[in-house]
Formats: sequence, structure tokens, C-alpha cells
Amino acid sequence: MTAPALTLAKSFSHDIIRVVTEDRMEAQGPQEILTWAIKNFHPRLVLSASFGGPEGMVLLDMMQKIDSTSRVFMLDTGRLHPETYDLVDRVRDRYDQRVEVVFPRHRDVEAMVADKGHNLFYDSQENRKLCCRLRKVEPLRRYLADVDAYVSGLRRDQNANRAGTRKVEFDEAAGGIIKLNPLADWTTQDVWQYVEENQVPVSRLHKQNYPSVGCQPCTRAVKQGDDPRSGRWWWENDDMRECGIHVGEEEGGSGI
Ligand code: SF4
Repeated sequence: MTAPALTLAKSFSHDIIRVVTEDRMEAQGPQEILTWAIKNFHPRLVLSASFGGPEGMVLLDMMQKIDSTSRVFMLDTGRLHPETYDLVDRVRDRYDQRVEVVFPRHRDVEAMVADKGHNLFYDSQENRKLCCRLRKVEPLRRYLADVDAYVSGLRRDQNANRAGTRKVEFDEAAGGIIKLNPLADWTTQDVWQYVEENQVPVSRLHKQNYPSVGCQPCTRAVKQGDDPRSGRWWWENDDMRECGIHVGEEEGGSGI
């Protein structure tokens, strides 16, 4: 088979490249995908969990049941809800799980706040993207430089930007490592059914109409029946409200 035209900073076997490029995992369920990933990449495999949505908690539960030494990390932007930290503590207690916490570069944040204020994101989309870039995208890229693969809770029906999400793909923006989206074809109902059946800990804010919890100043509750992500950056008026973690500049996500 001809090697794909990919820029990969890591060296993967031909078998791994074939699994990814030939979409061999598309018919597999999340536990099968995670078992394959743990077998091939652990400990250079991490779960990226925001602790602000049920998907990451479902994946954490699945990974813990496959291998109790599996790894999880979160980005602490410095602007998270108290309920998010509370959930991290509950996860530590429930699973005896070490949570790796990644912070932004403090000098970059200090300079940004000195120049533009603490609440710069309300002034313009440019400012909001700058804040997301310094507090989320840069720490994520820095952290992922040391792993071969990571797991994300993206689902295709979350919004139009995510409709083409594949279950296993190369993330060239993150240096050509492997990104796994085991819940890509799950519905919201699938996620909550798993949460209830397995008593998975989730954010207490979900019961207060926060289906998707991000940073405190940039998230609000939504009305029944509204788009679950409409409570994120609600003052922005387009369909491309992403933080830049899951979309590149060319897709209009972060603009960076
Ligand atoms: Fe900054 Fe808001 Fe982005 Fe959090 S979500 S990094 S507070 S702009």
C-alpha cells in the first residue's frame, strides 16, 4: 500500500498506519477501539477530558475498566467552574485515578491580562480566540508533544463542524499523532444511558441545564430544546464557535 501523504512527527508501524488510513475501526464499538489503543500505545496514550461533559467521563470509565493504569489529563485554563474541580476530586476518589493537570504558560497569560484585561473575550472574537489560544490550544499542543495518541469525546451530532469526525485519525495539527474519537457515532441518549447504567460521575452543572461546561465566564445554561452548545460563547453569532482545540485555522475554528 502507498504511504499516505501525511506529515507525521512520530514513527508508526505500517500496521498502525493501515488501521488509521483504511478506516478499519469505523465498525468497532468504543471499548474495542480503546482496547486496541491501550494495547498499542499505553503509556503514550492519554484521555483528553474537559471534566465539563459526560463524554469524557464515559471514556474515562471505559478506560479504567480496561486498564486501571490508563492516563487522563485536563487543561486548567484558570477560569473553570468550582463544579469542574469538584468533579476532578470525585473522579480521583472513585477510580483512585491520577489526573494530569496542564496549565497555560503564566507569563503569556500575565501579558494578555495586563494588555487587555481579565474579561477581554467579551470585547471581540479576536480577543476571545487569543484567550482560547493561550489558555487552551498552546497548553494542549505542548502536552501532546510527549504522547503518541490521545482520546477525545467528540461526537458527530454535536454540531456541523464535527459531522465528519472519524473514529481514528491522524491529528496533523498536533504533530501527526493519533487521535481517537471512540464515541463518534454515539448519540446524546447513548451517552446518558451509559452514565446511568455505570453510575459514572459527571458535572453537577448538567442538572442545572449546562449540557456542555467550559470556562465559567464563557458558559451559561441553555433552554430546554436548544442546541446543547449554544451556551458556549453565546454572545458570538456564528456556527464556528470552537476553541481551536478540535479545528484548525483553515476551518475557521480558532483563527490561529
Ligand atoms: Fe478564555 Fe473563555 Fe476561551 Fe476559557 S473559553 S480560554 S475564558 S475565551
